[in-house]
This record gives sequence, C-alpha cells and structure tokens, in this order.
Amino acid sequence: MKQIFLCAINNILSGTCLEDCKFCTQSVRYHADIERYNYKKIEQIVQEAKIAKNNGALGYCLVTAGKGLNDKKVDFVARAAKAIKKEVEGLNLIACNGTANKEQLTYLKEHGLDSYNHNLETSERYYAEICSTHPWSERYETCENVKSVGLALCSGGIFGMGEEKADRNALLASIASLSPESTPLNFYHPNPALPIKTRNIEIDEAASIIKQARILLGEEKLLMVAGGRELLFTGKEQLMFESGANAMVIGNYLTTEGIEASRDKKMLDTLGYKVATSCDTH
Ligand code: SF4
Repeated sequence: MKQIFLCAINNILSGTCLEDCKFCTQSVRYHADIERYNYKKIEQIVQEAKIAKNNGALGYCLVTAGKGLNDKKVDFVARAAKAIKKEVEGLNLIACNGTANKEQLTYLKEHGLDSYNHNLETSERYYAEICSTHPWSERYETCENVKSVGLALCSGGIFGMGEEKADRNALLASIASLSPESTPLNFYHPNPALPIKTRNIEIDEAASIIKQARILLGEEKLLMVAGGRELLFTGKEQLMFESGANAMVIGNYLTTEGIEASRDKKMLDTLGYKVATSCDTH
C-alpha cells in the first residue's frame, strides 16, 4: 500500500516582512488581510506540535516571516526546536526562516533541527518579475549552505504566478540540481491584495508538473503537494498521488486556510493510502 507523508506548518512569526515578493501576503507592502503577530510563545508552539503529531504529521515546519535569519530569530527557532524535541517524539523538525548562512544553519542543527526549507520559488529568469528586493541567487546559495552543513534540504517553488512553461522547466531543473530530500510544489493561491491577481495553472498542468518533478528528483525523494492543493485537487487527490506525489501539507498554510486534517485522513483512507509513520521512504 502506498504511504503518504504528512507535513504541518506553524507560522511562528507572521506577516511582518519588508520584502516585496509579489506572491506573498506576509509582505507589509500589500496590506493583505491576514493575522500578523510577533514571536509566538514557545509553550503554544509545543502544544500545536502535539496536535500536528496527533493528526498524523511526521514533518513539522517552523516558519518565520522575513527575508532571513538574524541572531534573535535563530535563537528563538533553536529554543522552539529544543522544546518540541523534548516533549514530542518522532517529529522531523524543519525550519523555514529565509536566507541563512552556514553558521546560523549549524546552530539550528545543533539544537535539534533536522531539515531546512528554502524555496527557489520560480525560475531565475522570472524571479526578477516577482521580487526586486533580493536576488534568486541568494535563494540558491542558502540551499547550498543547508546541504553543506548536513541538514536535509527541503526546496521547491510556486507554479501559476504568470510564468511561462520554459520557466517551469527551468525551476524544476534548478530544484533537481540541488537534489533536495523533499520538494514542496505550491500552486499559486490568488489574493486580491497581491500584485499577482490570477493563477495561470489548471489541474492537468499541475499534474504534469508533479510527474515531471518525480522523474527529475527520483523515486526515493519526498514530493509534496503544498499550497494551492485545495484549489486544484479537492475531490481529485488521486491524480496528484498517481502523478508521483507521496507527501502533502495538512492543516492550514501560512496565511491561507487549508483542509481540516480529519477530512484529509478520511480522503487517504477512501483512496486506499496509508499515512506514513516513519520518514524512511524505502
Ligand atoms: S521574503 Fe519571504 S516572507 Fe518576505 S515577502 Fe518574500 S516570501 Fe514573503
């Protein structure tokens, strides 16, 4: 029976970013109607990790808004990770805190982080159209830093932001060149406050991106359908798994409501998939 890996996200610092990524509601520039808050309490993060674990999550991702890590943020994420590891068994802990250098990443690793997520977002060519405040090369470099300190790399991108097919191919090739342990594929979820108003992707194209990613990344890797799943694949989840996805995000996304975990579990059951209980994909 095919196993599906579940991953949950916790936005532990929300909506306070000064960068101008046109797809992101957490940029303060676009005044999107989202909840914005400073650092969550560590006890709350631990409680939420317990809930995610009970919902079947194996991966648990600690996300902070903002371009990258600084001393305060790295210390906070490390403390949160240490507290979770102490109280919740069996979670693969991922940090997603923007650009990071080797020293910061080593510190996180020493405090219990297993993996670091940093997405390339789109092709190098199209990136200039969606962000002017930091370059794509910095994103790629952070991914290389992750690998060089021995953390597992989680890296993917967003499709449907107005890019061309050649950009999608280029993004997938760039992701594959990093050989990440896991890859989240997001499908753009339009928000009226954001400069990118529409989504130029439909379910068939999304399925072929999943297929292409599976071929490029290899059978052993985690290939996750993340944001936008609820827009494209609700009621047609079989297609994403048949196309090669073996992981998905459960619960809410960073600022967008997802699907209730119990509904997802029922869906997996109905389709005959098992919720994975170990991160070993072999
Ligand atoms: S740097 Fe990250 S949090 Fe900030 S606007 Fe870009 S994607 Fe959003």
